[in-house]
Amino acid sequence: MDLSETQVKDIVRKVLLQMEAGNREDKKLSGIFTDMNDAIEASIKAQKVMQRLSVDSREKIISNIRKKTLENAELLARMGVEETGMGNVGHKILKHQLLAEKTPGTEDITTTAWSGDRGLTLVEMGPFGVIGAITPCTNPSETILCNSIGMIAGGNTVVFNPHPAAIGVSNLAVHIVNEASKEAGGPENIAVSLAKPTLASGDIMMKHKSIPLIVATGGPGVVTTVLSSGKRGIGAGAGNPPVLVDETADIKKAAADIVNGATFDNNLPCIAEKEIVAVSSIVDELTHYLIENGCYVISREEQDRLTALVLKDNKLNRKCVGKDARTLLGMVGINTPENIRCIIFEGEKEHPLIAEELMMPILGIVRAADIDDAIEKALWLEHGNRHSAHMHSTNVNHLTRFGKAIDTAIFVKNAPSYAALGFGGEGYCTFTIASRTGEGLTSARTFTKQRRCVMADSLCIR
Ligand code: NAD
Repeated sequence: MDLSETQVKDIVRKVLLQMEAGNREDKKLSGIFTDMNDAIEASIKAQKVMQRLSVDSREKIISNIRKKTLENAELLARMGVEETGMGNVGHKILKHQLLAEKTPGTEDITTTAWSGDRGLTLVEMGPFGVIGAITPCTNPSETILCNSIGMIAGGNTVVFNPHPAAIGVSNLAVHIVNEASKEAGGPENIAVSLAKPTLASGDIMMKHKSIPLIVATGGPGVVTTVLSSGKRGIGAGAGNPPVLVDETADIKKAAADIVNGATFDNNLPCIAEKEIVAVSSIVDELTHYLIENGCYVISREEQDRLTALVLKDNKLNRKCVGKDARTLLGMVGINTPENIRCIIFEGEKEHPLIAEELMMPILGIVRAADIDDAIEKALWLEHGNRHSAHMHSTNVNHLTRFGKAIDTAIFVKNAPSYAALGFGGEGYCTFTIASRTGEGLTSARTFTKQRRCVMADSLCIR
């Protein structure tokens, strides 16, 4: 697909107009409702059909979602950037390709068996039924498509309450899931959403008696709300991942990896490097290579200007989130050459541009006396989120000590942070990392429940 800027703007405008018009019958996007209770009822109906489908049929639907995600990767990427004003089109295309290719399907769901003199017992992973999912504006369509694949693989249908700032692209993703299902012989409304989601519609969803599981991907507010709902909740919350560099690291490679990770989709991913903690003896060499990789060092006075812009009245300025380094610098009157990708400076760990989760390519460097001091500082900076942390080192003891101490769902060693999502690293992809509730990198099996199935005294043929 080769779309001009005007064409993308036009598509975004049309999708948003459909939302405005209450998703009129004549131009209906599949699975989009104006009322949350209607959306849930449609999802319940679709789940009853799902329950009768074979696992093979589920897999056919999922294959078609993968295919359509790949076909629409550029459109979704461009819509996401256009609508939210955040992120990088090329990187968002890669994210859609990654989720299409590496999000686990039905093969992720396995059965446990015991057989012996007293018969055969199985533990099978069954669907919860209708799942409620709340999604962020930072990876909007990525999260919807990735959640849909995993939840459908588990035999569920899903009701989304997406972030209002990304409603066009989120609902286009829901439409794609339904079109994929219908084409593959599955039901419509396998995923549903609202034309105008609000906190109130999210509340209706969370309280609905037919929704036994809520999956929240977003900041601390939504995770706390979901965990207070009285329902089972999977909470994929905020992070502030430090990257630790010690004196045994390949410093040149570490610098390149850190800049690649921290600038991916303009630092929007919750797993991305958000600050560096480096032992004192290598700080100068690391800074040299960071500059060589397109980092711009800001002065004390420039730090103050940037802090005032980015953290207006101590609150994260949403206009800066997901912007590239040159745009951010331009916003405080600093013009830089085209090769500049990331902003760096040395500061104390308490510096607001270091301690806060910014989701922008700004990397403060915190100097540590030695590995003990570095671990202590990185732990403080992670704020107990237990989400993600990264390290560059060739000392196995250092790596082990930091890994144990930081206790995060993700710990990437000697690679950019995105290796954790299977991009340049082994393993599957997800955009919902359940750090708060401990499921870790969610996949189809996370969205199933255990069911023990016992046959006494028979079916053991040993
Ligand atoms: P956000 O918290 O502003 O919004 C996320 C979703 O929660 C949206 O749908 C929003 O409408 C809803 N929401 C927000 N507050 C709510 C409340 N009190 N009650 C009910 N619903 C509420 O987050 P965002 O800006 O869209 O995304 C960025 C944040 O999400 C960052 O903190 C990032 O680290 C985190 N995140 C985490 C993961 C993960 O897998 N752990 C993935 C992506 C983003």
